[in-house]
Amino acid sequence: MTGWPRQLTWGDFQEIPNPGPGTLVARNGHPIVARVAITINFDPAQHAMVTEGGQYRFGSANVSVNLNRALTNYVPSRIPRGEESYYLSHEQGHMDLMGLFGRELEVNLLALRAPTSMALLQLGHETTDAAVANARMYAINSSMGDCQYDRDTNHGMNRAQQRRWLGIIQRNVAGWRAADFMFRT
Ligand SMILES: [Zn+2]
Repeated sequence: MTGWPRQLTWGDFQEIPNPGPGTLVARNGHPIVARVAITINFDPAQHAMVTEGGQYRFGSANVSVNLNRALTNYVPSRIPRGEESYYLSHEQGHMDLMGLFGRELEVNLLALRAPTSMALLQLGHETTDAAVANARMYAINSSMGDCQYDRDTNHGMNRAQQRRWLGIIQRNVAGWRAADFMFRT
């Protein structure tokens, strides 16, 4: 893994001035306090292949988790006083989910076997595309809709759901180094 685990601080977020009521709101109408832009990436071309029993596999798999600083921002004046760490922990949840799905991708990539190097390259791309789509479905909002994490927690406003998700994340983080790690809800 490159770029994760990573502990976010408000210093990672660009401050934006409060644009006023009704602007910069989530799909549910709530004003957006903060948002992170995170991608996970794997470049098969950067990884040496190994042959074993006539099959090709990746000798290593290093997935990177990238925070796009330009699109990671917050509206300080919208954070209720004393709630800074609560709101930051919600954003950290997005980061950790992306890291965990990135780690799951590494495990899946290392398990790939193909009869030719071209076939392995193709499988590597397909596996990465599927992992990115899955990670985004759980952890990143898009124009297609909000992610599962934000739907369940109502963007962190539902405290019971937020606690539940942070519990799920913590349990997964505790085991992410395992060679057979798979994300479990
Ligand atoms: Zn969120």
